[in-house]
Amino acid sequence: MGGRVHRNTHLVFGVLSWLVTVALMRHREMLDYTQAALALAGMLAGLGLTVVSRSLPVSIVTGAASVLFITYGFRVMIVSTSYPSFWVLPLGVMITLTIAPIFSGIAYYLGISLCVWLTLGLGNFPDHAQQTDHHWPVLAVVVSVLIGLALNIYFLVLRIHNYRARRDLTAMAYTDGLTGLNNRRMFTQRARELQSPEHGTAFFLMIDIDDFKQINDVDGHEAGDEVLKKTAGVIAQLSAGHLCGRLGGEEFAVIYQGEQGAACAFAAQLVAGMEAAFRHERVLSISIGVAELIKDADLSHTYRRADEALYQAKKGGKNRHVLHAA
Ligand code: GH3
Ligand code: MG
Ligand code: MG
Repeated sequence: MGGRVHRNTHLVFGVLSWLVTVALMRHREMLDYTQAALALAGMLAGLGLTVVSRSLPVSIVTGAASVLFITYGFRVMIVSTSYPSFWVLPLGVMITLTIAPIFSGIAYYLGISLCVWLTLGLGNFPDHAQQTDHHWPVLAVVVSVLIGLALNIYFLVLRIHNYRARRDLTAMAYTDGLTGLNNRRMFTQRARELQSPEHGTAFFLMIDIDDFKQINDVDGHEAGDEVLKKTAGVIAQLSAGHLCGRLGGEEFAVIYQGEQGAACAFAAQLVAGMEAAFRHERVLSISIGVAELIKDADLSHTYRRADEALYQAKKGGKNRHVLHAA
């Protein structure tokens, strides 16, 4: 997306520079109007297609076509001057450098630069007044392409960094840092999606570790964190295929997609599975409140019901699940 905006801005700038240059020409009558009109039509068509294109490959092709039509437009202009070959180097260097940031990929950039130089230079070997050294044009072309290449790579690296930073920040915004599960925000967002009618019956399981505070108090906060990570691992493993997440603290949740009997069996399996997973380390249990995911009311109603059922499970002696009597 950033690349597209980039490319559009460059192309608009290129077309405008050409139009301004034509407007400022002193001997405009020398211009071949048919070719100039063709160049302008090509620029505008390429620009328009690049702006509306929704796919990256298409916008790369139309962007490249626009650049070449702009270059062609300048060529039409310089061949109408009295000394065309003088203009090949300055224009070529300028275009080679200005397009450097917009074509991601070394091969694209080199290919387009080559076409730019050919468009400007064919039949117009770059030449300067009183120039004696004929290596100079070659040097100017090579150096400008190399500098352009360096810029091109620099922008590519920037884009990759930018992409990774965004991706990492997005991941951080939606996953729990300690356990790697969905965080509350992501869990809630996806639970809301599961409320829509095309998804079948589902049950909300609110899971809370029993007497967790004691683990922190007796063995320290770090031991508590390890217990949270392991608990998350067990829940993720047992609830494979169902949405799960960490709501905060020592509270987790699962949306079980299925009928009531299966949901309760699953809750019982989680309670037993947790105890079994920790058997060799410590006595650890969880309590679960189970409530049907209400489809036509705000998710908070389901949350509240699951929380009430969880409270009953704690009151009933912990290490168990309770289904909310709707
Ligand atoms: P109950 O059986 O009634 O659920 O009692 P409990 O001790 O599990 O519940 P309580 O809500 O009293 O204590 C939860 C504790 O969880 C308190 C808090 O310090 C601790 N806690 C919350 N988040 C974290 C965390 O990220 N890491 C650690 N180590 N502890 C946490
Ligand atoms: Mg709690
Ligand atoms: Mg607890």
